[in-house]
Amino acid sequence: MADSIKTSNHAKFAALIKRLNDGTMKLSQEQQFYLRYLSAYQLGYTGEYEAAIPLLDEVISQSSEPTLRFRANVTAVNILVFGRHYEEAFKRLSQLLDQLPSITDKDARAQSLGVASFLYSEAGQYDLAVDYANRFLEESHGIAGDCKGKYLKIEASYRSSKLQADDESYQDGINACVKANEPVFSNLIRFYAANVDVRHDRQVAAIKLLKENYEDAQRTRYPLLISEFDALLAQAYWQQGDIARTHKFALAAIDSSVKNEYTEPLSTAFHLLYLVAQKQGDMEAALAYHERYMAADKGYLNDISAKALAYQTVKQQVLAKKLQIETLSKQNQILTLQQDLGKKAEETSRLYIVVLLMVLAFIAFWAYRIKRSQLRFMKLARRDGLTGIFNRQHFVSEAELQLQYCRKSSRDACLVLVDLDHFKIVNDTHGHAVGDRVLRRAVEACQAHLRSTDIFGRLGGEEFGILLPECTLAQVVARTEQIRIAIATAATGEDAPGIPISASFGVSMTGQSGYDLRQLLIHADDALYRAKREGRNRVSVWDISQPTLRTV
Ligand code: GH3
Ligand code: MG
Ligand code: MG
Repeated sequence: MADSIKTSNHAKFAALIKRLNDGTMKLSQEQQFYLRYLSAYQLGYTGEYEAAIPLLDEVISQSSEPTLRFRANVTAVNILVFGRHYEEAFKRLSQLLDQLPSITDKDARAQSLGVASFLYSEAGQYDLAVDYANRFLEESHGIAGDCKGKYLKIEASYRSSKLQADDESYQDGINACVKANEPVFSNLIRFYAANVDVRHDRQVAAIKLLKENYEDAQRTRYPLLISEFDALLAQAYWQQGDIARTHKFALAAIDSSVKNEYTEPLSTAFHLLYLVAQKQGDMEAALAYHERYMAADKGYLNDISAKALAYQTVKQQVLAKKLQIETLSKQNQILTLQQDLGKKAEETSRLYIVVLLMVLAFIAFWAYRIKRSQLRFMKLARRDGLTGIFNRQHFVSEAELQLQYCRKSSRDACLVLVDLDHFKIVNDTHGHAVGDRVLRRAVEACQAHLRSTDIFGRLGGEEFGILLPECTLAQVVARTEQIRIAIATAATGEDAPGIPISASFGVSMTGQSGYDLRQLLIHADDALYRAKREGRNRVSVWDISQPTLRTV
């Protein structure tokens, strides 16, 4: 109950608080904090700002009720302004506005929006003040809220000189506050309206309005309001040339003004008293009032700039803090980003390694396959398709290599040329397929009698060559004889029935022909020719003393 009448019926409120504080009622812990809050409000109301703040801080730091803590802080902001602790007030306001989104209590929210509007108005931030007044009007409820919201809006607009003298908002605001039984606000609005009238030389209207409500204003016991009424009346009378009333109301303004404080009405009052004394020729009094006027005016103006300065200071501090927080969070973001990147880089490099290994494995696999097929092709390219032994080209290159080696190591080598006898007849009698089979049998028979170091190849058709390194004449003749017999026995029978298979052999040796393969081949061929001529199925060794005259 006390809370709801704290401005509307202040006398009753004060009495109630006094009774509660006297301890005539039993109160719970939270109720006591609530009482402390109301007591602080009462102290602030009567100008005892310094006593009010510690009480509120007690509530703020100790109460377990968040809404009460918030409201105590709102009141503290209000009182800090009256106590001219502007910087602290703006600091707390900025914290309150930060907390606002989490506050659900409608009254507490509206209270803080109201204080914000009031404070920004004090700091000369009228647009902000109007914004908060509008928000206050939106969020507050009931006739009391309507009154206070309208008052805040009028105050900010009045101070920014945006309201015309005949603006309907004045009357609208006055009506709302009369209806809400809020004489402080209704009379403050009347004062603003009257002030505009005075500025526009409508002293009669101004005096009428102020006089009609003079008693009402007095009853509020609100020093600032009362001194504003007195000072404005004094000014209106001065403009009307009513020296006596000017003097009377100027003195009243000084008397009613907040003690130890430089306010606008105080400054106005001293100025008017100075003017009155001057007019009356009382130069001594004029000088004294002028001095006091200068002090009050300077103090009042200092106060205005102190508010504006505090607002700007706190604004900069808040901005700097926000910037710091933002910088920190940006730094954090960068750090986490770097960590993420680090992780990503690690993952990526791991992935690279896996991919690389896969590529390597793939390459190795293909290299192996290519090598294998290459080897196969090489082998195919070196081998004779029918018999599987070296073809002519490979036999020649291998034989040449071997001969070079033999020449370097001064070892002998023998060359044997083999040619199947009357092979044409085999083909002609039994067909090509049988001829091929006989060829393979003949090759197998030869291989059975060759060493691994011997080079064996098909030189063409049914003609073969064998290079036997490290071989004497006796050895080569004996080996060739073995081969001759093997062919003659193995390749006959079921393959080519009725046709005897045999081969003739021509032998040449490095000891006589030298290490040149071409020369060895010519000499071996010579010897082979002689073997054929001498009846076939025999071995003939080239002999320089037996030159052969070839007819073919
Ligand atoms: P000679 O005793 O004088 O050597 O009589 P020859 O019949 O062997 O004479 P020649 O060298 O004129 O004939 C070789 C024959 O070998 C001709 C060809 O039909 C046959 N021939 C050559 N290459 C192949 C082959 O790859 N397969 C078969 N089946 N026959 C072949
Ligand atoms: Mg031949
Ligand atoms: Mg032949």
